[in-house]
Amino acid sequence: MTLRPTRRIILQGAAASGLAATLAAPALAADGAVIKLRLLETSDLHTFVEDYDYYRDQKDETVGLTKIATLVRAARKSARNSMLFDNGDTIQGNPLADFVAQPGNFPADGIHPTIRAMNGMGYDAATIGNHEFNYGLALLTRALAGANFPICSANYLDEAGAPILPATLILERRFTAEDGTIHPLKIGVIGFLPPQIIDWDREHLAGRVRSTDIVEAAHQHVPALRAQVDLLVALSHSGISTLPRQGGEENASFYLAAVPGIDVIFTGHSHKVFPGPDYASEYGVDAERGTLNGIPAVMPGFWGSELGVIDLTLAQSGGRWTVADFTVSTQPIAMRQDRQVTSLAANDPAVDAAVAPEHAKTLAWIREPIGTLTQPVTSYTALVSGADSSLALVNAAQLWYAAPLLPTALHGLPVLSAAAPFKEGYQSPDNYIELTAGSIAIKDVADLYMYPNTIAAVRVSGTELAEWLERSAGIFNRIDPGNPAPQPLLNPHVPSYSFDVIAGLTYQIDITQPARRGRYGDARRIVNLAYRGVPVAPSQAFIVITNNYRADSAFAQNPAAVVLRAPDQVRDVITRYILAQRRITVATPEIWSFAPIGAPVTVSFESAPQAARYLSALPGLTSLGDGGDGYTTYTLQLA
Ligand code: MN
Ligand code: MG
Repeated sequence: MTLRPTRRIILQGAAASGLAATLAAPALAADGAVIKLRLLETSDLHTFVEDYDYYRDQKDETVGLTKIATLVRAARKSARNSMLFDNGDTIQGNPLADFVAQPGNFPADGIHPTIRAMNGMGYDAATIGNHEFNYGLALLTRALAGANFPICSANYLDEAGAPILPATLILERRFTAEDGTIHPLKIGVIGFLPPQIIDWDREHLAGRVRSTDIVEAAHQHVPALRAQVDLLVALSHSGISTLPRQGGEENASFYLAAVPGIDVIFTGHSHKVFPGPDYASEYGVDAERGTLNGIPAVMPGFWGSELGVIDLTLAQSGGRWTVADFTVSTQPIAMRQDRQVTSLAANDPAVDAAVAPEHAKTLAWIREPIGTLTQPVTSYTALVSGADSSLALVNAAQLWYAAPLLPTALHGLPVLSAAAPFKEGYQSPDNYIELTAGSIAIKDVADLYMYPNTIAAVRVSGTELAEWLERSAGIFNRIDPGNPAPQPLLNPHVPSYSFDVIAGLTYQIDITQPARRGRYGDARRIVNLAYRGVPVAPSQAFIVITNNYRADSAFAQNPAAVVLRAPDQVRDVITRYILAQRRITVATPEIWSFAPIGAPVTVSFESAPQAARYLSALPGLTSLGDGGDGYTTYTLQLA
């Protein structure tokens, strides 16, 4: 049977040590008791509560907390003792979140729909992720206030450096041992997020919020917490990287695992699955068993795709509990075989009911037509051709909106626009943009631009422009001109959103050269960089329209370069552009191309089967058929 705690005492933050001291210490039980404890994790839900793809306006059985809730019920039923945690990136990520964030749309009961669904599931604790700040602090505060479970973060700090939420939690639970005896245990919880929030959401956080290095925050808080608890769980909204540590890492879970006193690490942020083939076993990482520096660790995908499960065996010795054994796994809500999706979990009626009002309102909102496309707009060619229609539409809307807003002192400078593809098959072969000619609705704009970024503009030199494009070109593998075999074109570790294409320029990318590592290097992949046919001079000044995320992360060392911070989100700008034009024809001049290689080479890449219709316009394109997991492999002849 499942034992739910009959007496929950939650000791939060600064009050924890004082309160804990007033509680009677549990009497030492005889040695030898064994407790089996199942710890469950959700992460990066991004408001995917329903099994619904709001961009395609159809059901999607590969996403949804409603499916996870069913897995949670089953996981609890088959365990004597269990706890449930969420790892953040919870209130942003799809049109439901956008709808709720609009003025006047916050639910009348004061509870964010995702939190309302989670409240019904009996979460024990949660932390926050980087995307929680995308709509500003007011919405975040409102959303967190509705949670019936405690939320902690050790490196989300106010201007004075004090934690805004409790840095740590102590949860008291009574667990049933294998021999039927009941034992009170204290579970310590500590939460972390990427300190990069300060750059990524500077417009919301500047002057109000600080953050610190994840590992430093752990060293600051773990020893005191460890001294008070039987088990210590880290909720790390941060991915896994084994590169030599420099400090301030976005993906710090591996280094966190080396901090003494942590028993279990829940990871996330990278939208991958651990343990499993998304990660390679290497020194300190066991990608099969699920350990980081020997500590059990799990990452449960994204959008409710998987439930993270860590089964602990706790053994009592001398009155102390230690982790004697563990297994780590993830449970998917669906299986994808070729193009076929098989659901592995039914919807949970309670979760469906919890979000039904906002789900219905979101559907009505996304279906409102706003204009007409005279041609299809897709992202299938974004990484292989400089004439991609999805990027061209975003860049056209950004220029239309931002150029008139530039300070008059900058008038006369060339104005360019940068956009990167977000939906590029990274998560599944369905993860592309394909808007057909005809009516276009808000859901299509949300599909075209899935992040709530705002418009920004930066002033750059010709040298900085070239440097920017060098970093973008890092998405391509280095191609050996002497190798006659097909060579994979794309580096799977570089996300497509880092591949900015800058409209207004023309350039070529020499993929026989090594990718730029770090900010400065000698490699030159960008050649023949020109503006209106004239080579770009190193000292020439340009304005580039981009988003706040790129402006603040690429120009963190030089904030003065940011010459415009517009209040509007890029997708609101696209919506207004379409409303203003009504009939949209997208011009797609070729912005970039692969530089001549000097020898015939074949590069290969994966894309969707249905991409063939658009890719076949490229010279030298061949489809090789099934590439596994629903993808099709294509090759491109270069010379
Ligand atoms: Mn996320
Ligand atoms: Mg994240």
